[in-house]
Amino acid sequence: MGQYMNAQQIRSSYLDFFEKRGHKIIPRALLVPQNDPTTLFTGSGMQPLVPYLLGEEHPDGTRLVDSQTCLRAQDIEEVGDNRHTTFFEMLGNWSLGDYFKAEQIPWFWEFLTQEIKLDPKRIYVTCFLGDGSANVPKDTESAEIWSRLFNEAGVDAKQVDIDTEENGAKVGEQGGRIFFYGSKKNWWSRAGTPAEMPVGEPGGPTTEMFYVFPEVPHNSEYGEYCHPNCDCGRYIELGNSVFMAYVKTASGIEKLPKQNVDYGGGLERIAAAALDSPDVFKISIMWPIVEKLEELSGKKYDSHTNAMRVIADHLRGATFLAVDGVVPSNKEQGYVMRRLVRRAIRFAFDLGIEQSLCEQVVPVVVSLYEADFPEVAERKDQVIEVLMREEKIFRQTLRAGVREFGKLTKDGLTGAEVFKLYDTYGFPVELSLEEAFRQDVKVDDNWQHEFDHLMQEQRERSHTASKGTFKGGLADHSEITTKYHTATHLMYKALRIVLGDHVIQRGSNVTAERTRFDFSHPEKVTPEQITEVERIVNEQIGKDWPVSWREEKTEDVLGKVLGAFGDRYGDMVKIYTIGDPDGENYSREICGGPHVTHTGAIGEGGKHFKILKEEASSAGVRRIKAVLQ
Ligand code: ATP
Ligand code: MG
Repeated sequence: MGQYMNAQQIRSSYLDFFEKRGHKIIPRALLVPQNDPTTLFTGSGMQPLVPYLLGEEHPDGTRLVDSQTCLRAQDIEEVGDNRHTTFFEMLGNWSLGDYFKAEQIPWFWEFLTQEIKLDPKRIYVTCFLGDGSANVPKDTESAEIWSRLFNEAGVDAKQVDIDTEENGAKVGEQGGRIFFYGSKKNWWSRAGTPAEMPVGEPGGPTTEMFYVFPEVPHNSEYGEYCHPNCDCGRYIELGNSVFMAYVKTASGIEKLPKQNVDYGGGLERIAAAALDSPDVFKISIMWPIVEKLEELSGKKYDSHTNAMRVIADHLRGATFLAVDGVVPSNKEQGYVMRRLVRRAIRFAFDLGIEQSLCEQVVPVVVSLYEADFPEVAERKDQVIEVLMREEKIFRQTLRAGVREFGKLTKDGLTGAEVFKLYDTYGFPVELSLEEAFRQDVKVDDNWQHEFDHLMQEQRERSHTASKGTFKGGLADHSEITTKYHTATHLMYKALRIVLGDHVIQRGSNVTAERTRFDFSHPEKVTPEQITEVERIVNEQIGKDWPVSWREEKTEDVLGKVLGAFGDRYGDMVKIYTIGDPDGENYSREICGGPHVTHTGAIGEGGKHFKILKEEASSAGVRRIKAVLQ
């Protein structure tokens, strides 16, 4: 094989290519969206940029490029095929009312064929067929640009109308190069097809790029004939450009005065194409993980493809979640992370790897990213520890759980049993269902209903138990409680100074007697560290910092001030500053208040801040109780 670019080189060459064409490289957003309560994870490069695509001005201008780390928990079932992973990087470039089709299509073509040297004869594209009922024309403009590019490369570019996936399976490729599909495939708006768009919603036609792997035989399970949008894996979608040119109005679809381009393409897939492999697990940022699994198990990827793909994918995803501050838990992002780790461990059993999976594999994942992602290098030790800890907990319960599973399921698996396995043994629901499938145990038809009911009951129980805590976290607004509240801010910052930036607030409960504070940290806080935290807090009380608040724009402060990680904020947030908000200060934190006006007030009457207790609260979360005495 000749010279090809590996994934790391493709990432930097892509950023470089668009930077040279006037784009500003923007940093990736975290996997946990900071400002969007509707989704658990960042799932595309476009997602964090939606406000700008809708018209807000971006501080970095009208041409942007990035590589966005994405997590699609919804793709977890697809992991095991040749091209889907839960975690992946999406290369993206955007025009915010700047260039349009005439620049975007030739640039991307140039990138694929000149920079990473893909074979033009294996590139196939799709364009928008038009939507008669919504009065949107066929995108002949894009097709003409593609046609010219293919012809210049000596490739015949026959145009074929396909419309729907179902029709594609019936009519097949017909020797085409440029394929037209309808609104379900080649139209983008947040709401879906033109007919589904509400008034005011922007949208537009898309053009998608595919790479064919002729050695992959068409699988007739997906239909009689193959075509670019067939799911058999012969054509792999490398990326797509959205040409946001329209808006829905009361009188129908109309042209927007300013048009945007949104391009997104999977780094892993483009790297696989460059490597000339239909298998994304063969690329430079995946294969070393598989090799490690081969080494640990003494088994070969070729005969254990599915399990190794699942493990490699899941541990890579869990690693990045840990880098971005997520801790395994039983809810939201933490639950998905827990599910990834536990599923990886479960599949490793099949390979005969029965211990230290994370300890041995996570460092390999880290090694593939630390040079390009400083935050991975920085947090490496904590990341490995968080995942090792989760594995340890899971192994302890797994043995008991598997035994219990056998006992529970003699006559089939009921919803109550799924709940018990979940609640008592930490078995993710899906794992119980998969285990039932593996062991050929029948699952009760009514399981989901029963399970949901028990979950609801449990939720109500724990809600009652924590009422008045965790939200706002203040029992009352008395003077002493207010002092404890400000002392809690001092302590939060001190914990980060002493333990590191991975410390993130997980909950707090402040009363007139004490403060209780939960935070992410993978291990016990040592007595020396506790003494140091106490010393810092008392020092700040002694400094008698002024405490004040003001409202600031959320987007300006996120990532710069403290807050409870994962909380959702509106456009403006209230920030409490201990010190000068525009000058020297000790801490700045998103908070509703109230607080004392000077930190010295906390020490009135000769009071000192003292930590009474430090203990585990849940996996990866510590709890501190402290008093003023
Ligand atoms: P597919 O139909 O192959 O699942 P998609 O239509 O879901 O792809 P988009 O949402 O358009 O993909 O995302 C843009 C690009 O991101 C895709 O062209 C592909 O290169 C990449 N991509 C999407 N999902 C995954 C995944 N699960 N793993 C790896 N890459 C992905
Ligand atoms: Mg998909």
